[in-house]
Amino acid sequence: MPEQVIRQRSRGFICTNAHPAGCAAVVDRQIKSVTESSLNNVSGPKRALIIGSSTGYGLASRIALAWGFQAKTLGVYFEREPSGKRTASAGHYNTATLQARAAENGLWAYGINGDAFSDDVKAQAADVIRRELGQVDIVIYSLASPKRTDPRSGETYSSVLKTLGEPYTNRSIDLSTGVVGEASIESATEEEAANTVKVMGGEDWNWWIEKLLAEDLLAPGARTLAYSYIGPELTWPMYRGGTIGAAKKDLEATAGTLSELLKTSVGGDAWVAVNKAVVTQASSAIPVLPLYISLLFKVMKAKGTHEDCIEQMRRLFLNHLADGKAPRTDADRLIRLDDLELSEDVQQQVTELWPQVTTDNLQDVSDYAGFRLSFSQLFGFDVEGIDYDQPVESEVMIVNPE
Ligand code: NAD
Repeated sequence: MPEQVIRQRSRGFICTNAHPAGCAAVVDRQIKSVTESSLNNVSGPKRALIIGSSTGYGLASRIALAWGFQAKTLGVYFEREPSGKRTASAGHYNTATLQARAAENGLWAYGINGDAFSDDVKAQAADVIRRELGQVDIVIYSLASPKRTDPRSGETYSSVLKTLGEPYTNRSIDLSTGVVGEASIESATEEEAANTVKVMGGEDWNWWIEKLLAEDLLAPGARTLAYSYIGPELTWPMYRGGTIGAAKKDLEATAGTLSELLKTSVGGDAWVAVNKAVVTQASSAIPVLPLYISLLFKVMKAKGTHEDCIEQMRRLFLNHLADGKAPRTDADRLIRLDDLELSEDVQQQVTELWPQVTTDNLQDVSDYAGFRLSFSQLFGFDVEGIDYDQPVESEVMIVNPE
């Protein structure tokens, strides 16, 4: 395929293409942020499985594990490969870069592209672990998906972002126009609520761990983590108290079940880490959140406490999962990485700004520019140092170790 000039193509909260050189630069920046941090060369788990490893928190986890602990990483993701003039999805280019850099740095990194909910992908991952790693020391579960086909029943379930109870209206930014208006979120039916738990709850995480355990692929002391979000009260009616929140509570309950299972079987453990709000493909699709994130970024950047996925994951692995560290949790056994986001002064400032923001003052009152930049960079656009007028090769493939 000849090289081509790639310009960003967006529709609302979706970007339909990605820039390989831009994605590579963003991954390189994350790797550098780990190698230049105190996580570099700290010892920790050495063999890792990351489910949902190509973007967002999963990608940052994989980078922190590989470049922090020199861990061998097996990544599972669901991404579009390049085809003719059509670019790959960002997660494909991210993974191609990550695995190329790993090879250059003498780190083993293997990728499986497919549906993590399926039996087939679980079997593929089990085979690679058995063949290449023997066992894994840590399993990170970082999926964000709008739907799931249950391989046991063959039925496909869709998740919805709705309330459990009254409909909810709050302020929101229309990402295609930059207009501040209102978004209304409907209340879910019982079936919709149950389906959302089926997609984003803990069942699949449980099935992954049960399978790995049954096949003796979890090392003594193996640990597993999944990620959740709680957020500020102003979003609770639609998030924590809504359908997605119910799914997250199910995920959190699953951590308890898996903790018991792993303790008695391999002397391991399971937790959920509650991460802060960041711009990812998953969070951009949620109404209200982009406005909240724009205000949050403004306040946290001014205070010098702003963090993105990689800074959060550096903190997680350094303080809670490195050798000799035990995770510190709250009373509900949750690892709280959202402590800075939810600190009283940050939330007080966001709450004060919330009613003030309008379409006209959006750029001043909030860090909407920072939100937009982060959004574009998810797809490799608007990245410093990249000349977008230059043609680039879009057929970049992911290379696995021999
Ligand atoms: P993301 O969209 O950036 O990443 C999702 C990952 O899941 C990608 O690697 C994608 O390829 C993979 N994936 C999706 N469906 C798949 C499938 N069927 N099979 C295999 N892989 C699949 O999302 P994210 O925001 O990083 O979310 C990851 C986790 O972090 C979620 O549990 C989310 O709730 C949580 N979290 C996110 C935020 C936030 O602000 N973004 C905050 C706190 C917690």
